[in-house]
Amino acid sequence: MDIPVLDGNRPLIVSDVDEVALNFLDPFNAFLQKNGYELIPRSFKLTGNVVSIAGGNAAPSMTVSTLMDAFFAAQQKWQTPTIGVVESLARLSTVADIVFLSAMPPKYFAARRALLDEFGMHYPLVASESSKGELIRQIHADSEHPVILIDDMIYNLHSVKKHIPHSMAINFMANDTFRAMAPDPGEDVHLAANWTEVTRLILRHISA
Ligand SMILES: [Mg+2]
Repeated sequence: MDIPVLDGNRPLIVSDVDEVALNFLDPFNAFLQKNGYELIPRSFKLTGNVVSIAGGNAAPSMTVSTLMDAFFAAQQKWQTPTIGVVESLARLSTVADIVFLSAMPPKYFAARRALLDEFGMHYPLVASESSKGELIRQIHADSEHPVILIDDMIYNLHSVKKHIPHSMAINFMANDTFRAMAPDPGEDVHLAANWTEVTRLILRHISA
């Protein structure tokens, strides 16, 4: 996997993909239902909440992984952009470099690249399961310019704050039901309910 190293002359915005740029939970649930399972929003996790429609039993974690793999392989048939993301990133790209950083297994890179391109989101994509903070430090090449991560997973936001103390961390998750069950990210992390708020927070931060 090639990591794009940017010239560091502009702010860098790193956007997560699943639940941030692309809807994940709703299309994943639709995919599950087609395969005899469904996602029940009982707590902020997948394993334990993916249940068999026939018996009501929670699918074991191996089964959840297999279902997620099949979903990522077929993502072009299922996933769609989150509300406002295409317009927001187009606006933000006039003042900052944009990179997608997805924790999805790298073998689905081509499917994801094609899906993002289909919606006009031609920004560089990194698919990696390693620590996001360390990766972003490499991409940003230790630049003094602002660096912002938008992610639904708090451990990723804390990872970027740890590796780049001057970074800005924004917690955004498209799915309202699961977002309401998410743990408190702590005072270092900004919360946004939609891409309008994400954009406003970033523009204010960059121009400060
Ligand atoms: Mg995500």
